[in-house]
Amino acid sequence: MGIGLGVEVENTSMDSFLASEGYPRKSRRYCKVVRCWCGSDALVELPAHGDYQLCRTCGCLLLRCVLAPTYLEELYGEAYFDAHQVAIGLPPLWRRYETDAHDRIPIWMAAILRRFSGGRLIEVGSSHGRFLKELAGAGFQVTGLELDHAMASRAREKTGLDIRCSSLEQIAAASYDVLVANDVLEHLYDPGKMLSDSMRVLKEGGRAFFQTVVFDGWRACPPVVLRPLYHVVLFSRESLERLIPPSGRLMSIEETVFGCSYIVVLKNPATGKIDLRGRV
Ligand SMILES: [Zn+2]
Repeated sequence: MGIGLGVEVENTSMDSFLASEGYPRKSRRYCKVVRCWCGSDALVELPAHGDYQLCRTCGCLLLRCVLAPTYLEELYGEAYFDAHQVAIGLPPLWRRYETDAHDRIPIWMAAILRRFSGGRLIEVGSSHGRFLKELAGAGFQVTGLELDHAMASRAREKTGLDIRCSSLEQIAAASYDVLVANDVLEHLYDPGKMLSDSMRVLKEGGRAFFQTVVFDGWRACPPVVLRPLYHVVLFSRESLERLIPPSGRLMSIEETVFGCSYIVVLKNPATGKIDLRGRV
């Protein structure tokens, strides 16, 4: 179903915000969010946190104003890393190829290696490709999906791996043992579809790992998480559980050491077979 969007309008203050983040200054169009991804339109304004609204049905926070879908591609290209993420204090994209290997990637590797020692693995939103490089070194046969053409091309050159400028919808069913999508769900206008598509590409018994930022109360939520335009949905634990499609089984929701984020593990349930590979 996805979030419900109102009509496209101009918004000069959001244009100014994007320019302040380092994106080229130009006029874009924006939409008000009028319905939660869960189908509810019981959305409550939050005067103290004006960029977000609360869904009274599932408990997630939703942006009130998002970029019109036709403008999303430019939001998540290399500019996302080299403009926005530098603005919030992180290194630029290709410096992160080095730094990510020493901070977040060991945490993500541990979550996967606890349950798998190899197999076919696909990462959605693989950006610079360093996580895939480490996974390939650990014995996985890897594929990366990256929607930005330039980033996919540079990551492919740098890693020598199968990194495609492609979407999950284009991947054949039942073709992977493991799927990973870190820091992706919260940016999507239809996160439920992402989970359904993920279950579809997994083999029976396969696992999907999603790291996502969450809303567990205002004190636990640093201001950087609540900036306009990027985190479309901030899930609560309850809303994450609601998001799981009938084709998936929730195995665990674990807090990460980064704070304000969880790793959700789903399984494509085996039907009538003994699952020898996966361990929870
Ligand atoms: Zn909702």
